[in-house]
Amino acid sequence: MFNDFKDRPKRDFGDRQMFKGNWKCADCEKEITELPFEPSEDRPIYCRDCHAKRRPPRRDFRR
Ligand SMILES: [Zn+2]
Repeated sequence: MFNDFKDRPKRDFGDRQMFKGNWKCADCEKEITELPFEPSEDRPIYCRDCHAKRRPPRRDFRR
């Protein structure tokens, strides 16, 4: 299945596709104009800050 690889665009996590739009953060009501993921209508949308806030701290973060 190596043949497949050359047709595909290289996946780079540092340069993700952004979805442009006009939303409001469900938490702080800040305007959001772009999201790093496709928003779904049945889920609240959070800005970057609130999104990070809502994530539980990683306990198993090892370095
Ligand atoms: Zn927010």
